[in-house]
Amino acid sequence: MDSIEAPTTWTTSFMRGCRRKCPRCGEGAMFRGYLSIADHCSACKLPFEPLRADDAPAYFTIAIVGHIVVSGLLMLESYAHPPTWVQLAIWLPSTAIMSLAMLPYLKGAVMAAIYCSNKDA
Ligand SMILES: [Zn+2]
Repeated sequence: MDSIEAPTTWTTSFMRGCRRKCPRCGEGAMFRGYLSIADHCSACKLPFEPLRADDAPAYFTIAIVGHIVVSGLLMLESYAHPPTWVQLAIWLPSTAIMSLAMLPYLKGAVMAAIYCSNKDA
């Protein structure tokens, strides 16, 4: 039995998606750019077009980054009381960097979750 026919658990497929790899085989890349989805897996030919994540990755990114930034901002304010420009200088670039870093991986994870929910149907 090769890796394409091997049964995969939800966790395995999800972790493959988190690495931006095909959720079925774990070999082919899901993306051909930063957020551009490849037509299909280069290894097992799984079509990625039906795995439409829509806005869900952005919602998850906002939720995660928002919790980190707001809690960090409030902790810094309560312990150090820095001037506003210091808070802005820390948290605006942090927000942009964390959002841009997380978004493609969360998109892969959402696409893998969609694949897992559809593969047994
Ligand atoms: Zn594949």
